[in-house]
Amino acid sequence: MMKYGETEKKNVKTLADMYKEFLDAGKTERECAANISRIAREHGYRDLEEILENGESLKAGDKVYAVNMNKAVLMMEIGTDPMEKGMLLVGSHIDSPRLDIKQKPLYENSGMAYLDTHYYGGIKKYQWVASPLALHGTVVKKDGTVIEVSIGENPEDPVIGVTDILVHLSAKQMEKPGSTVIEGEALDLLVGSTPAESEDEEKKENAVKEYINQLLKEKYNIEEEDFVSAELEAVPAGKARDFGLDASMIMAYGQDDRICAFCSLMGFLYSEQTSKTKVCLFVDKEEIGSVGATGMHSHFLENTAAEVMNALGQYSELKLRRALKNSKMLSADVSAGYDPLYSEAFEKNNSSFLGKGPTINKYTGSRGKSGSNDASAEYLGKLRGIFDSRNVVYQTAELGKIDVGGGGTIAYIPAAYGMDVVDLGIPVLNMHAQYEICSKVDVYEASRCYKAFYDLM
Ligand code: MN
Ligand code: MN
Repeated sequence: MMKYGETEKKNVKTLADMYKEFLDAGKTERECAANISRIAREHGYRDLEEILENGESLKAGDKVYAVNMNKAVLMMEIGTDPMEKGMLLVGSHIDSPRLDIKQKPLYENSGMAYLDTHYYGGIKKYQWVASPLALHGTVVKKDGTVIEVSIGENPEDPVIGVTDILVHLSAKQMEKPGSTVIEGEALDLLVGSTPAESEDEEKKENAVKEYINQLLKEKYNIEEEDFVSAELEAVPAGKARDFGLDASMIMAYGQDDRICAFCSLMGFLYSEQTSKTKVCLFVDKEEIGSVGATGMHSHFLENTAAEVMNALGQYSELKLRRALKNSKMLSADVSAGYDPLYSEAFEKNNSSFLGKGPTINKYTGSRGKSGSNDASAEYLGKLRGIFDSRNVVYQTAELGKIDVGGGGTIAYIPAAYGMDVVDLGIPVLNMHAQYEICSKVDVYEASRCYKAFYDLM
């Protein structure tokens, strides 16, 4: 634990409370993007879409934000330097592992109604059974009507969930390897057991499913075929909570990577005005390879930078390329917190410990650093100087022992422009489990760290 004075201790607590609210307000990428957009507007950021529609120009000091398909957000504060000199970026991801509802999900079996799911991201499937889940998402009707769904978060709401076989009859199941103890197709959500009252003989057969259909129609105006154009996600129900008898930690769903989203947002909003253009980026689809229109591989950053440069009267293809190449970035994603109960997975000297500040991962990847962005020594040297000048506490680590696994972040993608990028994020325990654990001290130190980057880089 860091040695803090009374003021700092108070700051740690205040920030932790704000962070818990941020988590509760955004349990899906869509909700999180909407919440970030709301915070942006409250801080005087204007929607770039609106500026472009009005044909307005931009100037140094202007604050704008752009939203990509309701799932990714970019906030930018324009500096006095020409954009081609480069930007300062911190980028995180706001998607998290969960159970997505299939496009034809609803069925009945043995008097019970189920929603079939397809899991999203890397999960230990056995962690997602016998627990309360909430249903969040968006349903779009044929006429374009958008219906927002959130069931299971209020204490008076019902919850849904996946069942598991009782231990008394688990002899066979318990012999299976962990990866198949629960199969992907067994992750179906039990959602009802009440039969609909009907004279129609055909409907009697699927009366429980029929009742769920009636409920969805009455409460949400959703028809069964509307699932085809829906994005519904089952996520752990309930709010973020203090963790530990000393309440020094936070346990919550989706901290990978909304913890870095929150801390980078804090660092960004409270950074000092400098001549540099600052960007805070929140992307989707990291957990499935940063693919698609809303993942880091999309051209969202590049296109938004081009639009801003154009509105500044600074656009040319070459200047845009220079802007990207001359940028510096922190890829803000979580690190594997050292867990002494599983010490065999870590090499202790190069591990990340809860409560010891954010972690620099020079490289990630697996085996021989495969798939990793290997940040340059020159860039790391500069960052060390900046963090030390602000007395920011940080650590360095690898993602566990060599050859036991591995992983990646968005870092290697923007690095392709030739910009300096390094991973700097917060250690968590239980990563990708329903409830992940972080240290409040690290939320505070990481926010200071991102702020120092924006202020001094
Ligand atoms: Mn992540
Ligand atoms: Mn992850």
